[in-house]
Amino acid sequence: MDPISRRQWIVTVGVGGTGLAGMAAMAAGRPTLNGSGSASERTGMMKKWKCGGCGFVWDGDQPPENCPKCGAPREKFALLDDAAAKLVERSRHTNALHARMIALARDIEAVCKDGIADALDPACVAVFQKAQAHAFEMMKQSMT
Ligand SMILES: [Zn+2]
Repeated sequence: MDPISRRQWIVTVGVGGTGLAGMAAMAAGRPTLNGSGSASERTGMMKKWKCGGCGFVWDGDQPPENCPKCGAPREKFALLDDAAAKLVERSRHTNALHARMIALARDIEAVCKDGIADALDPACVAVFQKAQAHAFEMMKQSMT
């Protein structure tokens, strides 16, 4: 593979999924409908309740009867303020990005395995081996 087609390959892999524009839009939240009300009312974000027993976060107008994770009763749940709720949303978004990156890295690994097995010529095999090592690094970093 020459340097130009290699770069093209990276660009093609990079534009998968939501892309930068989608991520920026998600990070910014939905547009404001009016200037009044809490941030959650403006953005349409659901109320979030945190379990005092295990930290599980529940989305809804009311906390659940019992915590689905540890079974604690409704009284154990506390309403998160807007800042805390926003932080939960952001961490969920980041987790989703890590999951997507791991999935992409797995795809890259599979392509590389195929290319190494194909073994058309040593230069190509070397490229696949290098990319496989990079994909493994990406997975390792996203999983820690
Ligand atoms: Zn719980």
